[in-house]
Amino acid sequence: MKTTALTSTLTQLTQFRFVNAYLVQEEDGLTLVDTMMGKAVDGILAAAGGALRRIALTHGHGDHVGALDALKERLGDSVEVLMPELDARIHAGEQVVEGKLPGSWPQLSTRPDVRLAEGDRVGSLEVVAAPGHTPGHVAFLETRDRTLIAGDVFTTYGSPQVTNHFYWRFPFAAMATWDKRVDAESARKLRALEPSLLAVGHGPALRLPAAAMDAALARA
Ligand SMILES: [Zn+2]
Repeated sequence: MKTTALTSTLTQLTQFRFVNAYLVQEEDGLTLVDTMMGKAVDGILAAAGGALRRIALTHGHGDHVGALDALKERLGDSVEVLMPELDARIHAGEQVVEGKLPGSWPQLSTRPDVRLAEGDRVGSLEVVAAPGHTPGHVAFLETRDRTLIAGDVFTTYGSPQVTNHFYWRFPFAAMATWDKRVDAESARKLRALEPSLLAVGHGPALRLPAAAMDAALARA
């Protein structure tokens, strides 16, 4: 697993070159945002060095929650798990939207301690509702420096794109997107936050991302 220090409080973890998770330094330890796929557990624990306090998820897809059960098994009640409300209900077996959901929704034995909603705080991160890729998808705005952890609303693998747009170099993102119109609305909402740094689920982080986000929105 590759680790990249993005800011003084944010480290990017990358599995298989294209799946990211993030460690956020807080006063009481670390928040892990997303968990990548199952095999990531050892790499995450090594990078966190025993300081993991909570696991916050942008959405319920398998490449974001994949290592959750394994982490919970190792860390038990020393970590709190936070998941967006609707995606938590989907994982609990509720039918929250009509029809079949695209993307991978693996069976989880971990139940979140907290269901996240717009405006909630996770340490220094503010929860921003950004549905569309999944029904409950959220982004996290770092209030200390306006870094945006955008999950799968945008990808930067290859070039910056909104996940409602079918992009040949990374087609999985659009294929896994639940509602393309709602996803595009969320992308516009995230752009309007004027982030200083855009950190996404797939692809490298972008500094001063306004122009790149505008270009992606023009294709969305
Ligand atoms: Zn996804």
